[in-house]
Amino acid sequence: MQLSAIDNQTANRSRVPGDTVPTRRFTVLFLDHTAKWSGGEIALLRTLEALDRDRYRAVVALAADGPFADRLREIGIETHILPLSEEMREVRKGSLGGGGLAGKFRAAVTFAGYANRIARFARSIGADLLHCNSLKADIYGALAGRIARIPVLWHVRDHIDPSYLPAPVVRVFRRLAKSWPQYVLTNSESTRAALFPDGSGQQRVKAVHDGLSETELTSPPPSAGTEWKNSPPRIGMVGRLVEWKGQHVFLEAALRLSQSGRRLEFVLIGAALFGEEDYEARLRQQAEAIRSAGGEVVFTGFRTDIRERLRDLDIFVHASITPEPFGQVVIEAMAEGLPVIGSDGGGVREILRTGETGILTPMNDAVALGQAIERLLDNPAEAGRLSGAGYAEVRSRFTAAHNARQVEAAYEEMLGRKA
Ligand code: UDP
Repeated sequence: MQLSAIDNQTANRSRVPGDTVPTRRFTVLFLDHTAKWSGGEIALLRTLEALDRDRYRAVVALAADGPFADRLREIGIETHILPLSEEMREVRKGSLGGGGLAGKFRAAVTFAGYANRIARFARSIGADLLHCNSLKADIYGALAGRIARIPVLWHVRDHIDPSYLPAPVVRVFRRLAKSWPQYVLTNSESTRAALFPDGSGQQRVKAVHDGLSETELTSPPPSAGTEWKNSPPRIGMVGRLVEWKGQHVFLEAALRLSQSGRRLEFVLIGAALFGEEDYEARLRQQAEAIRSAGGEVVFTGFRTDIRERLRDLDIFVHASITPEPFGQVVIEAMAEGLPVIGSDGGGVREILRTGETGILTPMNDAVALGQAIERLLDNPAEAGRLSGAGYAEVRSRFTAAHNARQVEAAYEEMLGRKA
């Protein structure tokens, strides 16, 4: 008897009172090529924590071991490592279109072999559905689904656009998205519009915003005081140190503010990815100039205690220079009761209502960002009003439970059942 069948028997119950028809428990196999901590894996963890485990047995297959796998095991999610060569896992998004003909052929053969392995594994656990959580997993997951005849859902969390990926990769991915998966979820309307710019093709597509777990929503509401927590006030960003996240724009604004005689501390939380060390060196040069102008700059490196780090800030800045697919850091900062300035593009527009729950400034505009920071510094009462509204907004619109119910609704549709 297959493992899933045993599980299905023990969970053959309906959660709707009065409904006597037993509901089969379905097995969803989640695929991701990495077990490193990054936004996509954090978002999936939040969904998994909130998923209805009476209805869905979640099994995760990762192409490597790492901190994400450890965390999944800690919370009792069945996790398997089906190794994929490091060479294939680490192919950078920006170089997917390169590598020459021989390289592409080798990659195709490796991915096909891996897809075959995933298909066998999916069958062995009795998977009813494959949920692919990263671009690479989308490709081998879709192939595996075809081989094993299991429906496939793509959860797209990247902006499929030439501002982010090489144009040939964008073309191929957009085309595949129309026919390979049976269902596409995107993390924002903006990600959806980038993936299907002509609005056609994939019938089953839905934008589902990410959300925070109950255990992450425990901070008390911000106080309506007119004092900053720190002296000098501390203004920070959270995110990988990579050019499109716009830390350099933030530091340009920081330099202007410091040169205008304000005493402020600027904090960059996050680390450079492998291959992005030049960008960090550039940021460190900018930091030197800010220090010479009397400002303070702190680089914390990668942190696992983001909530504590956020609570130490007075103002939160998001400064991506290309549309942010969603921007979990923005809801994390709002949840901790911080006033948030976000860049006006992508999913962040769907999170923040400017002047109500935060402030949006044009992407890649250090002058406007500096002015928005000044506006808050000079009006702590306004900052308090925005942070109070942002705090409430996250709790009503961006919870993991809300996200999980929408993901489950997509499964129900795919599996042909009424939610
Ligand atoms: N993050 C973290 N430690 C760091 C920097 C970032 O845990 O030092 C987390 C951050 O709290 C957020 C995620 O990484 O949960 C980034 O997700 P987001 O959607 O903002 O951006 P992505 O990295 O997916 O582009």
